[in-house]
Amino acid sequence: MSRPDLFERLARACDERARDSLLRRLRTISAIDGTHVVADGKRLQSFASNDYLGLAQHPELVEALVVAARRWGVGASAAHLLGGHRDEHAALETELAAWTGRERALLFSTGYMANLGVIQTLLDPRAVCVQDKLNHVCLIDGARLSGARLKRYLHADVDSARRQLLSDPDAAALLASDGVFSMDGDIAPLTELAALCREQQVTLMIDDAHGLGVLGSDGAGSVSEAGLDASEVPVLMATLGKALGVAGAFVAGSAALIDGLVQFARTQIYTTAMPPALAAATRVAVRIAWDESWRREKLQLLIGQFREGAALRNIPLAPSRTPIQPVLIGDSAVTLQVSARLEAAGFHVPAIRPPTVPEHSSRLRVTLSAAHAESDIEALLDALSAAGAGAMSS
Ligand SMILES: *Cc1c(COP(=O)(O)O)cnc(C)c1O
Repeated sequence: MSRPDLFERLARACDERARDSLLRRLRTISAIDGTHVVADGKRLQSFASNDYLGLAQHPELVEALVVAARRWGVGASAAHLLGGHRDEHAALETELAAWTGRERALLFSTGYMANLGVIQTLLDPRAVCVQDKLNHVCLIDGARLSGARLKRYLHADVDSARRQLLSDPDAAALLASDGVFSMDGDIAPLTELAALCREQQVTLMIDDAHGLGVLGSDGAGSVSEAGLDASEVPVLMATLGKALGVAGAFVAGSAALIDGLVQFARTQIYTTAMPPALAAATRVAVRIAWDESWRREKLQLLIGQFREGAALRNIPLAPSRTPIQPVLIGDSAVTLQVSARLEAAGFHVPAIRPPTVPEHSSRLRVTLSAAHAESDIEALLDALSAAGAGAMSS
């Protein structure tokens, strides 16, 4: 008897991916300057970043990071509960809670860990977790890790969500959804989901990774834009690595929720605290994202310009009013080809393929930033047309 060799199996899985045009390639960026990156010695205009407000290289954030590193050093050198929790973390948590209109907030080192931690804390195998089919993978993994029954509903379909809840009417239940869907850019039907959850006595959790900083008049995100408060969305999660331009994440909610997470969220407890200098830089990012609404206004202007220009050129877009503007292509090999042509023309626009998105729905994921200029958008539109993205209307 001989056991299957793990590395042989892995190599076969990689070969399969290559055959289906699904192989990933790790690109190394050797320089970055504004919205430009240098990859393989070539300078490219990037439409791949989640730095929606143009904060990742903001001099005030960089300065805050450097000053805090001089004061605190680089690493937190311990978990939050064991001495890693510093003034900067505590102040950031207070400010994030105030911004999002919640009683308290708790930092996590990444969004992935935040979702694993909060879902595992709230659910156990007797509970049910109902989720949108297009939710981010870490929400799905959180439910799996908790052992709860995971039931997925058709994308943004509240009736489908209701059916899933009614099929398990007696269990404690969490309904979790992205606020803004990360590969499609559309916004969840938040008001309707909140009404459903109220009616069915279900707790609603929204992952607003791509809404925070971008949506709502003060940038407090999709939940705030929809006018939903903490009683309607009791579990709010968002990341610090997208519009805020830093790294990390937080969960915001009632004091009871946060106290419970401090006790039970394994991905918060058994890991080194976020470097305090990152917390310091994030505090500056929160202030700028909160105050400088011109960044959101500029972004909306560019989004409108991109969508109008795409319509004129028959470039098929998804229905999105956020900075995530996927160009729908379908076939993975063709998507790769168009992405390669764009790169040859000086643009970095990544091809997104299964399993990140459903079968036959490969796309170019264009993301816009307030750091782009109107002329950058015009140049991208022309390049998309020339690369053949307009010819393939689906
Ligand atoms: C990026 C993202 C995450 C993960 O956040 P990280 O801080 O990058 O780990 C979680 N949820 C959604 C919807 C995301 O887009």
